[in-house]
Amino acid sequence: MNKRFTVFTVSFIALFFIGFFASQKIFESVKPVASTAPQEVSETYISMEEAFPYDFPKNSTLYNVLKAQDVTGSEIQQIVAAAKPFYDLAKIRPGIRYSLEFDESPDPQLKSISFRFSGLESLVVKKLESTWVAEQKIEKVELKTATFFGTVETSLWESASKANMDGLLIAELAEIFAWQVDFAREVRVGDRWRLSVEQKFVRGQPAGWGSILSAEYENAGQSFVGILFRVDGEDLGYFAPDGSSLKRMFLKSPISFGRITSGFSRKRFHPILKVNRPHMGVDYAAPTGTPVKAVGDGRVVFSGWSGGGGNVVKIRHNSIYETAYKHLSRYGKNIRKGTMVKQGQVIGYVGSTGLSTAPHLHFEFFQAGRFVDPVGKKFPSADPVPPNLMSNFSGNVPYKMSLLPSWESIIKY
Ligand SMILES: [Zn+2]
Repeated sequence: MNKRFTVFTVSFIALFFIGFFASQKIFESVKPVASTAPQEVSETYISMEEAFPYDFPKNSTLYNVLKAQDVTGSEIQQIVAAAKPFYDLAKIRPGIRYSLEFDESPDPQLKSISFRFSGLESLVVKKLESTWVAEQKIEKVELKTATFFGTVETSLWESASKANMDGLLIAELAEIFAWQVDFAREVRVGDRWRLSVEQKFVRGQPAGWGSILSAEYENAGQSFVGILFRVDGEDLGYFAPDGSSLKRMFLKSPISFGRITSGFSRKRFHPILKVNRPHMGVDYAAPTGTPVKAVGDGRVVFSGWSGGGGNVVKIRHNSIYETAYKHLSRYGKNIRKGTMVKQGQVIGYVGSTGLSTAPHLHFEFFQAGRFVDPVGKKFPSADPVPPNLMSNFSGNVPYKMSLLPSWESIIKY
């Protein structure tokens, strides 16, 4: 094949492909990517996998591993002794990553051995002159801000999973707005959400999540914003931009007047059944007809006769908390399953229905489906940002909001 022919053929083939790509509108979009592909991870980093290339083998010992590298028994002893204050290398577990470094002599000698015990901790044992010394190293954690956003099609979980958020982070997002939105029941198609979160990096590699810094959830057209308030490195919680708490406080008691006659107990003698039975609530003695109030905003999930409980109202406050009110003589106005109630709203009246010897209210509190003692329980604080810290908080709100991805960047699909 002569040279002219070759040049002609190559040019022809090149022109053909350029024409092909151009006609497919691929060429223009391919070219810039190929020439200026962004480098997300700096090349100066050595990854953990490169830095610690070996897995400590199963059913082996440090002695066997180093003996295979022609390290003498006495040197191995010195290595173990040097490491002892930090880690007992005699009990090294299989799977621990390690690396070996040799000098450049004609007969290379081991000059250091490093172990990685966790994501952040490593130990270097190296030979200085003729003695082995150990040094513990803690990897530097770099924090960057990552963002996530999405639109709800079926559930927050599904939407956030689709945005590649891990489960713990989704749970944290739901927790921030647990008092505003009942994510199990009130989520609507088309709700949208966005957040900024600290992402940890070690040696340029993602190494888990820090705190959510700011988040917004739009539920049925209503917007809720949570801003992390951090003082001197301590996270004090999430607040609305005006400094009010995103949490709500429960009323101390569901009745205004009354005294506790029987507290929460895992074992109590039942006056009617004459047996020891746990008492998973608090009894308030009060005259028949005393108004019973909802201790928090919520939705009535049960209203009706329930055996020993007599007339019962049960309220779901959010995805975490529920309360139940038993032995009622009658129900509050319009109280039925599905009714939304406000904190302090009368949901019924004290009575003695069901298994009861005298008029009283039996009050139960549930946290994540389990009974808790409402008297001893420390509920999350619903205090706003303290006045003396308010300017500190307010000054930081615009910055935290600016970290959120713009709604415009959210592509509905
Ligand atoms: Zn009781």
